Amino acid sequence: MSRNYFIAGNWKMHKTRSEAATLAKELVAGLKDGKHKYLVAPSFTALETVSAIVKGSNILLGAQNCAAEEQGAHTGEVSVLQLKDVGVQTIILGHSERRHIYKEDDELINRKMRLALKHGFEVILCVGELLEEREAGKAEAVCKHQTVEGLKGISAADMPRVTIAYEPVWAIGTGKTATPEDADAIHAYIRSVVSELYGVDAAKKLIIQYGGSVKAENTAALMAKENIDGALVGGASLKADTFIPIAKF
Ligand code: PEP
Repeated sequence: MSRNYFIAGNWKMHKTRSEAATLAKELVAGLKDGKHKYLVAPSFTALETVSAIVKGSNILLGAQNCAAEEQGAHTGEVSVLQLKDVGVQTIILGHSERRHIYKEDDELINRKMRLALKHGFEVILCVGELLEEREAGKAEAVCKHQTVEGLKGISAADMPRVTIAYEPVWAIGTGKTATPEDADAIHAYIRSVVSELYGVDAAKKLIIQYGGSVKAENTAALMAKENIDGALVGGASLKADTFIPIAKF
């Protein structure tokens, strides 16, 4: 398989600037000989601090969200122009907490996707089903819908800058992980959806991360699966001694 593993840490709403700086420095030192692609996504308030620390390292700087508009009267929002200004390279969009707590719908997420790609960012599009959707046998349908709607209007030329993260909502922050087999089945399905949209070659090149209670103990088994190309890590990304073993699996 020619796809590179991509391990990303989503720090969510954690860490002051000095805490973020400490972690970022530990990661730069700890991952400098790491073989995979890496990213950290701090809170907006810590982006500038972390940007200065990861600059020139093998760790990309990510944002956890962006506004759907370029700029203007949007109180409380952060624009792609502002993210570019502080050195952000990648934007996480459609995270389940954005979808389910902050009620972002597919149409809004798609507008953000298109804007971020237009401005040259890489994006990580998160998709994943709720527990009741899985129990009702709808996991594939939900992931297909979120993938198709999220990618609407995105050209094949932009697809190399798109990563998809499959994050079953019931596995996020709960300690419950999808089995490698269950996760791989959904990853393969998402890849087939992308193949229908963009062709076999684009689908083969697509990086699909798994997210949901990833920790050092379960990383290797997940990453051994044919269609799992990395991880989007929440809780375990908040400390160097839990993130580095995942990142260097
Ligand atoms: C996430 O927030 O993307 C996530 C997967 O969180 P956790 O690793 O804590 O389940």
